[in-house]
Amino acid sequence: MASIFNAMNKQLIPMERFNRDSQVVFFTGAGISAESGISTFRDPDGHWSKHDPMKLASQTGFQENPVMVLNWYADRREAIQKAKPNAAHRTISNFQKLFSNSVVITQNVDGLHERAGNRSIYELHGNIHRHKCNSCGTMIELAKRKMRIINRCACGGGVRPDVVWFGESLPLGTINAAFEAVQRCDLMFSIGTSAQVYPAAQLPVEAQSQGAFVIEINPEPTPFSHLADISVRQEAGLIMPQLYEEFHAQLK
Ligand code: NAD
Ligand code: ZN
Repeated sequence: MASIFNAMNKQLIPMERFNRDSQVVFFTGAGISAESGISTFRDPDGHWSKHDPMKLASQTGFQENPVMVLNWYADRREAIQKAKPNAAHRTISNFQKLFSNSVVITQNVDGLHERAGNRSIYELHGNIHRHKCNSCGTMIELAKRKMRIINRCACGGGVRPDVVWFGESLPLGTINAAFEAVQRCDLMFSIGTSAQVYPAAQLPVEAQSQGAFVIEINPEPTPFSHLADISVRQEAGLIMPQLYEEFHAQLK
């Protein structure tokens, strides 16, 4: 489908509503890292087309076969370490120089926002590079060579990646801070998310209903597309630099 943002209809963005003090949220999902070569989950070649999520990303899966789970995460971690932030991640850093009141709320666990120099990042689903005790939650530093074996915390609990698994709650302080940022934002970019995983998927809906202008960027339509003020059906790495040029040129 053709983009609905192009040289002919830039005027769809009501630039007069924004200035350098506007509150801006960049809400991102796995799609923003797709152009860095990191698999998404729900696309046809994503992780969940090849693996059973309940075996790899759940408490039951970890109890049944911890080594398989640890190996899957170690493989993903190594792929992520070789990958680099792409133009979309880097453009968010440029936008954050323009809008000093801006935050990044991400469902990604890859740490690419931080590596691209983005700031004020809320990681709703944790970070694949950190580990914690599965029983008491203590953060645990692991050497790379120990990441594929079962390690124990001082309390006896097994050590696992610090990511949110199916059926688990999101970190409370982070999700609360994310909702607060969304409730006061003037502008949201919802980038590369299938808008299906709750409560994260509620964030663009919340932004829209409190009056923010929401720009969705995703080559495919999502359940949120019909609510977005603009739905740009293109790759984030392609369109984010163009959107930045537009804001940079026109912002008061
Ligand atoms: P998802 O896999 O459900 O959806 C990805 C979306 O990105 C799809 O709608 C797809 O059309 C879109 N997309 C693909 N290529 C794109 C591109 N170049 N530009 C813009 N959009 C593109 O991912 P989600 O919505 O983030 O689902 C949430 C779950 O996925 C979270 O739990 C998150 O932790 C997890 N996840 C994270 C990573 C990562 O850290 N990179 C990778 C896979 C999954
Ligand atoms: Zn412990």
